[in-house]
Amino acid sequence: MEKEYKTCTGCKKLKPRTDFYGHPATRSKLHSRCKECFKSSLKTSRLNPDHKKRWAEYQWRSVLRRLYGIEQEDYENFLLAQNNICAICGNNTGSARTSKLHVDHDAETGKVRGLLCSQCNNGLGRFHDSPDLLRKAANYIENPPAKTIQLQARKHKRGDGNKVKHD
Ligand SMILES: [Zn+2]
Ligand SMILES: [Zn+2]
Repeated sequence: MEKEYKTCTGCKKLKPRTDFYGHPATRSKLHSRCKECFKSSLKTSRLNPDHKKRWAEYQWRSVLRRLYGIEQEDYENFLLAQNNICAICGNNTGSARTSKLHVDHDAETGKVRGLLCSQCNNGLGRFHDSPDLLRKAANYIENPPAKTIQLQARKHKRGDGNKVKHD
């Protein structure tokens, strides 16, 4: 039979079982601290201005582990190696939600490649992370088809973009 009384690990008082919240995972099926201690610890942690920050930090760490398999220390090492800026364009604009640079990883191997700003991270995704496609895109911008085509002369020219030669 279960004991009728239990000593609280918070206030160290011997209290009846009804003074504790249930906790199915423990041997006694009760929380280690009494209801009073439990409530007051909740209150102080909510009032603590660091609580929100610590919670955000805790969540960030768990995202790094779960999604990318790296530790916060690894993330900081990447930042250090990249001078705190995007590895492609050099901006330091991070995600809108966390304001941190994105962790870019190889979708096939799951391995982290580096940190990127939102724009570059999205950009790579639009080109399916394909170096071939990205090279073609760069080549397209430097040598667009427009270079080989004589555009029709327009009656009303706008600006001096396409000056038509008159021989
Ligand atoms: Zn207590
Ligand atoms: Zn960038």
